[in-house]
Amino acid sequence: MQIKSLEIQGFKSFPDKVKLTFDQGITAVVGPNGSGKSNIVDAVRWVFGEQSTKTLRGSRMEDVIFGGTAKRKPQGSAMVNLVLDNSDRLLPVDSDEISITRKLYRSGESEYRLGGASVRLKDIYELFMDTGLGRDGYSVIGQGRIAEIISSRSSERREIFEEAAGISKYRYRRGEAQRRLDAAEENMLRLRDILSELE
Ligand code: ATP
Repeated sequence: MQIKSLEIQGFKSFPDKVKLTFDQGITAVVGPNGSGKSNIVDAVRWVFGEQSTKTLRGSRMEDVIFGGTAKRKPQGSAMVNLVLDNSDRLLPVDSDEISITRKLYRSGESEYRLGGASVRLKDIYELFMDTGLGRDGYSVIGQGRIAEIISSRSSERREIFEEAAGISKYRYRRGEAQRRLDAAEENMLRLRDILSELE
């Protein structure tokens, strides 16, 4: 699956709308230190629903919104839109292209869109699970991540292989099913209490 384009506005060091298009093959982003190369990678992570401010190299989520410079006023919101090629139908969506958008306002209000329709973070997370692309995917490898993987515990390393093997979604669904079962059991208990009170 290939990223076709990335549109950024108000995100980190990009106050104005910038659109990057990616062709077949390798794309290299070059520029002086501090020019915003890593911010582009942060934008990719963020649009897939990254929630860790540490991973995004900030201390609060608001830090992803352009904070202003000596010459420019801060922005009120950050927006990232990513378009993926889905002509191979790797994702179960009947469309050649998939567009995901995330927007965050300074007020804390945020929104996710999938092909224009408003969705929940959970929908984005579930769609990209086991593709290696999503929030916990291995396709974005940051600085120091290789050393981190090598020195991590075997159980943590296993998660990477599980994502690649397409097992993560089953683990996730099992967890969800277990949570629903626990809730149903709790409801049954309450029901039994009420019944015994009535008898
Ligand atoms: P290096 O080559 O040193 O790794 P880089 O090109 O990857 O650098 P980035 O880390 O992407 O650079 O960008 C850092 C720049 O982004 C800094 O100048 C920082 O001030 C700016 N920046 C980060 N967050 C914001 C924000 N919210 N508002 C404005 N500028 C920001």
